[in-house]
Amino acid sequence: MSAADIDAYDLVGIGFGPSNLALAIAVDEHNARCPRPEDRLSALFLEKQDDFGWHRGMLFADATMQVSFLKDLVTMRNPASDFSFVSYLHAHGRLADFINYKTMYPLRVEFHDYFTWAANRMRDVVRYGHTVTDVVPVAGGDFVDVIAATPEGVRTVRARNVSVAVGLEASLPPGVEPGARVWHNLDILHRAASFEVPSPRRFIVVGAGQSAAESVAFLHSRYPTAEICSVFFRYGYSPADDSNYANRIFDPQAVDVYFDAPADVKRMLFDYHRNTNYSVVDGDLIQDLYRRQYAEGLRGEQRLRMLNASRVTELTGGPDGVRAVVEHLPSGDREPLEADAIVFATGYRPADATRLLGQAGSLCLRDEESLLRVGRDYRVATDERLRAGLYLQGGTEHAHGITASLLSAGAVRSGEIVTSVAASVADRPPVPPAVGRPLAMTGDRLS
Ligand SMILES: Cc1cc2nc3c(=O)[nH]c(=O)nc-3n(C[C@H](O)[C@H](O)[C@H](O)COP(=O)(O)OP(=O)(O)OC[C@H]3O[C@@H](n4cnc5c(N)ncnc54)[C@H](O)[C@@H]3O)c2cc1C
Repeated sequence: MSAADIDAYDLVGIGFGPSNLALAIAVDEHNARCPRPEDRLSALFLEKQDDFGWHRGMLFADATMQVSFLKDLVTMRNPASDFSFVSYLHAHGRLADFINYKTMYPLRVEFHDYFTWAANRMRDVVRYGHTVTDVVPVAGGDFVDVIAATPEGVRTVRARNVSVAVGLEASLPPGVEPGARVWHNLDILHRAASFEVPSPRRFIVVGAGQSAAESVAFLHSRYPTAEICSVFFRYGYSPADDSNYANRIFDPQAVDVYFDAPADVKRMLFDYHRNTNYSVVDGDLIQDLYRRQYAEGLRGEQRLRMLNASRVTELTGGPDGVRAVVEHLPSGDREPLEADAIVFATGYRPADATRLLGQAGSLCLRDEESLLRVGRDYRVATDERLRAGLYLQGGTEHAHGITASLLSAGAVRSGEIVTSVAASVADRPPVPPAVGRPLAMTGDRLS
């Protein structure tokens, strides 16, 4: 079935990062197992970027994955899939070399290449350059129209189910606006590529998580004459807990346990194990930075500075740089710092799914803490006026735990969503004709 023959898709994915890419593959493999055409699922994915890209702004040459390569797009769901990282290595003639490399944690650039290879094989079901702006319930609530802005104008795609996987957004401290000299780490590589100061004197990096430490290491290597000041509340970077038992929090079974637990136990487990992922740094990177700083001390050329137990209290910007005041919290001492740029590695937050879902989002149900009510199958509970399925990949930590936005669970999560979607479309309602019409002409929407 080609995309042009379809009036309404069983599933429309919003975003085509690793989560919905894994879902596209899971749909494809589901269809391959269905002898009856009517049991197969039609799917289309809409992605705002012009081509596949996974956090390109943080794709440092030497950064490694924080997750085992076995937690690729498919293996945990279907170890026999030919979309695995091992299949990718084989297809590129690098399997033996990778085995001899003796690592579970490939370079991020290599995993990006793996994702791109898989995305290119799924190219038929993706439309790039499509930014989804609204999701509108139609036809008595059995369908939604997904509205996307494209270079050619507005496009409407009708869906029985939607999977929202739009990833993370940059989180900046209150009052901080990004600018030419004020960056968030998410686009540090793009900023650095267009940064025209020939010999910058100083950068400030705020934050103590993995992204902050990677940004410090990157700037330190890239600008060999610049001082790099790493400013953070903690006394020192804390290592990520990737020990055997703690790592089980990322297992598929952990999602079952977490999902059924009482709210206070969920919070307890999350707090105990947040140091597997949040505000922590890979141990090797901590050592690498320490070694650099120590060697500089030996040479008497200290340009990597750790301003620990500290915070930025004032920030003023100008066209030629920024002026920050850094307060040392134990002593109250304040140090003014002129810098060519400041990088806020102050974290991410899941993009707000209900904002993206627009009109459909207003029909999503919330619990007493105003959190979205989400089923074990990642489907959001909706007002009875909306029967089309809305699935979330990301932003459901409160229901599914720490893996909700991570690669670890992506393969299995995709399989669970496909199972749920396949069950929901078993008795497909007939499709009302509206696809491709401009928004104003589809007169059958819910009011
Ligand atoms: C630098 C970095 C490194 C990371 N490394 C790891 C790791 O090693 N292991 C791990 O488990 N997790 C890691 N993460 C966590 C990260 O959440 C996952 O790696 C992964 O990106 C989740 O995939 P996703 O598809 O849900 O989101 P994303 O990869 O963010 O993809 C979302 C996609 O949706 C698109 N989109 C957004 N809005 C719209 C719209 N309105 N219309 C259409 N398309 C839209 C975006 O362009 C993007 O392509 C890392 C995160 C960062 C920032």
